[in-house]
Amino acid sequence: MRKKVVAGNWKMNKSLEEANLLLSEFNSIKKSDNTEIIICMPYPYLFLETPSFVKKGAQNVSEHLRGAYTGEVSAEMLKSMRVEYCIVGHSERRKYFKECDDALYAKVTRLIENEITPIFCIGELLEEREEKKHFHVIKKQMDVLFNLSKDDFKKIMIAYEPVWAIGTGKTASNEEAEEIHHYIRILIEEKYEKATADEILILYGGSCSALNADGLFSMPNIDGGLIGGASLQGADFKAIISAAH
Ligand code: PEP
Repeated sequence: MRKKVVAGNWKMNKSLEEANLLLSEFNSIKKSDNTEIIICMPYPYLFLETPSFVKKGAQNVSEHLRGAYTGEVSAEMLKSMRVEYCIVGHSERRKYFKECDDALYAKVTRLIENEITPIFCIGELLEEREEKKHFHVIKKQMDVLFNLSKDDFKKIMIAYEPVWAIGTGKTASNEEAEEIHHYIRILIEEKYEKATADEILILYGGSCSALNADGLFSMPNIDGGLIGGASLQGADFKAIISAAH
């Protein structure tokens, strides 16, 4: 049985004081043994203490090993700060920082070399869905990962985040999300094998909230959520965690 994952993505929010306050609320989290909780924080906060059951994640990593890359943070540095997860290919990074497939693949590789689990984000734009190109877009984005060996591919987590649902309050319906998650598993099975497709964790992201998490997480191919806005308030995030069991 696959575990459930609830991963918060704080993006570029919270002062140090606010971050500490929110983390202190996590001590009272009630979660099932089968649920993994991850908080993807801004880099400067990664040194903060989290309860042992809350794993640390980063929101980005350099595609380079080390050296003269001013402003960058390497996978090696993240590992030394006990970071266990890192988001790669979030639609905001693809859009605002023009991150291309080659760079994303290099980032995934750097993370795997450092035993950090990449949370690889994929998802279509609104116009791509309207033009019924969403399956094609998902396939192209997954093809980047299909350059990995099967063993390395198994070290990845995927987050399906339809871009039109991110931060908009407009969630994919349970059925729309499930359809894509199921499709992703078919692609994995075609590339590797069924056992690998069955094993990989695929999260949903895009306006996931305390109101819709239960329905989304109960779909057979949805293994939890990547949560933006609703991870910024302790009560909302805890309610989403309660929906993961
Ligand atoms: C995200 O940015 O990964 C995300 C899912 O954001 P939100 O939950 O705010 O839509």
